[in-house]
Amino acid sequence: MFNSDPLHYRYRVFRPPAEADSLIIQVAYGCPHNHCGFCGMYKNVPYAVRPWPEVHEELRRAARKLQGTRRVFLADGDVMHLPFAALRGILLDLGTLFPLLARVNLYANGRSILAKSDAELGELRQLKLQTLYLGLESGDDEVLRQQGKADTVDEMVLAAQRAQAQGLRLSVMVLLGLAGRAGSERHAQATARAANRMQPRLLSALRVVPIPGTALQRSVDAGRFDPLTEYETVVELHAMIGGFELDGTIFRANHVSNALPLEARFPKDKALALATLQAALDSDALDRTSPGPRPFTL
Ligand code: SF4
Repeated sequence: MFNSDPLHYRYRVFRPPAEADSLIIQVAYGCPHNHCGFCGMYKNVPYAVRPWPEVHEELRRAARKLQGTRRVFLADGDVMHLPFAALRGILLDLGTLFPLLARVNLYANGRSILAKSDAELGELRQLKLQTLYLGLESGDDEVLRQQGKADTVDEMVLAAQRAQAQGLRLSVMVLLGLAGRAGSERHAQATARAANRMQPRLLSALRVVPIPGTALQRSVDAGRFDPLTEYETVVELHAMIGGFELDGTIFRANHVSNALPLEARFPKDKALALATLQAALDSDALDRTSPGPRPFTL
């Protein structure tokens, strides 16, 4: 356990880039699903919900030192999996202990959202739950099945629609290259269609990077998965953006894993985004023989 008084973190803590300035409270360890073939985040972490008295005491300690806290991120994976009563209790506690609290964000899977009623989702929103980070990954059910994802596309679309109808904000992530070379075009088109049905406020495209120890890396090693080259990844992103019919979405493909950083507001920036990608494809800048440099050391 890593102690950073007043907060105690166990294992490695992951958070979306946008939560860099948030107070991170670990209310559970690991991911309740933990079967996605591309994901190495919580592979060696046994899933466990932290006992409520322990979390409550930690919040009280944090509140004494960090009274000005406005943003909180609840970790670890799929915190929406917690029962409604537990989430409600945490949000009530946060609201009482941090008078300036503006918003609380967390990772959420589709089925965990669908397990809550509309009234429950609305009440969580009233208690300052704001952004749900949802990993769509692909709009192609076959790709999701191959990767061991628990949710189907329809489940995630419905979850996004129901959550947004209650005022919650959706930040959706998709993975470029997740279908490999053979499925790339279909993955691009299907993912664009799923995003169009969701109409999320925020949408991010990251390049999938095989992580040592994961099923995806084993598939690559065994020759069962043919990763995209850097050039093909940009072709896929171009096709995906070409299929977007988004109205009011901020799109980002500027993660360290992306071949070239891109940020666009839809619908107004669609033509510019496509032109930017086409210019990169027409240049010699992209690696046509390999996935390109690994974005981080593993
Ligand atoms: S991608 Fe999300 S749902 Fe899948 S194993 Fe990783 S943390 Fe869990």
